Amino acid sequence: MRILITGAAGFLGSHLCDRFLAEGHQVIGMDNLLTGSVDNIAHLAGNENFLFIKHDVTNFIYLPGPLDAVLHFASPASPIDYLTYPIQTLKVGALGTHNALGVAKDKGARFLLASTSEVYGDPLVHPQREDYVGNVDAIGPRGVYDEAKRFAEAMTMAYHRTHGVDTRIARIFNTYGPRMRLDDGRVVPNFIGQALRGEPLTVYGDGSQTRSFCYVSDLIEGIYRLLMSDYTEPVNIGNPSEMTILQLAELINEMTGNPAGIVLKPERRIKGDPQTRQPDITRARTVLGWVPQVDLHDGLRETIAYFRKRV
Ligand code: UDP
Repeated sequence: MRILITGAAGFLGSHLCDRFLAEGHQVIGMDNLLTGSVDNIAHLAGNENFLFIKHDVTNFIYLPGPLDAVLHFASPASPIDYLTYPIQTLKVGALGTHNALGVAKDKGARFLLASTSEVYGDPLVHPQREDYVGNVDAIGPRGVYDEAKRFAEAMTMAYHRTHGVDTRIARIFNTYGPRMRLDDGRVVPNFIGQALRGEPLTVYGDGSQTRSFCYVSDLIEGIYRLLMSDYTEPVNIGNPSEMTILQLAELINEMTGNPAGIVLKPERRIKGDPQTRQPDITRARTVLGWVPQVDLHDGLRETIAYFRKRV
């Protein structure tokens, strides 16, 4: 297959490039490097099956030649990033998705949208199933990301229903692993960076909010299986093992031997920070035969080793 991956220099995009190249496919990676980094794909330089194009997908995408699949992963994705780039976030979810769908339609390619658990907002249903329509504050600080992705899902289904584009929607829950940016503000790189510098871990609020963390290799396997399936409804991809942020902080301090402890920062909690989040993965399990394999300790050990070289 010849595949276009937008957001190819990002955390997930770069791992997807690796996976599709390893399966013998040709990959065109596209990124405007707003939050991505060429460091993530530097090892692919010289690979004859890989081509990198620096381009902002909110502008028209021109690509000569055939394409079999488009994976739309371009977007700021951490709360700090989308608060820094609110308009770019809305544009890549709206205009970028429209352009990427346009390419898929033109080439007769399959299209996969990287959506998010944020479409559920601060959920009133727990765990979150795909038929839950969510609890989103459109004008809250997270609204720029949540509504961009909700629009992207709506646009994807419109292209599917109106133009017959063969589409997939992955709702991605918290994922961690090597190639996250140390300064992207998300909880795993923040905590590991602080721990490796011997600083106290900054827990926002009282730390009772929960998340469910999926290791990147599991996530990529889920995305791969979804693309290869014939399932056009949204599918949650994430690890259902839920924990509080306080528990995560304690675990990271223990694994890194950080003596500096934890500091609670109530004022840093961004309004609309979901109190709970856990994917119901019944659909992924039954439709894709997918369940996460990597234990949190093992995944964190790999991630800590990666950040150790960068702190
Ligand atoms: N968080 C925290 N300390 C940090 C960074 C994040 O307590 O240094 C909390 C944050 O308030 C949220 C959770 O960790 O409740 C996950 O935050 P993240 O930014 O990773 O992404 P989110 O899941 O909120 O999109």
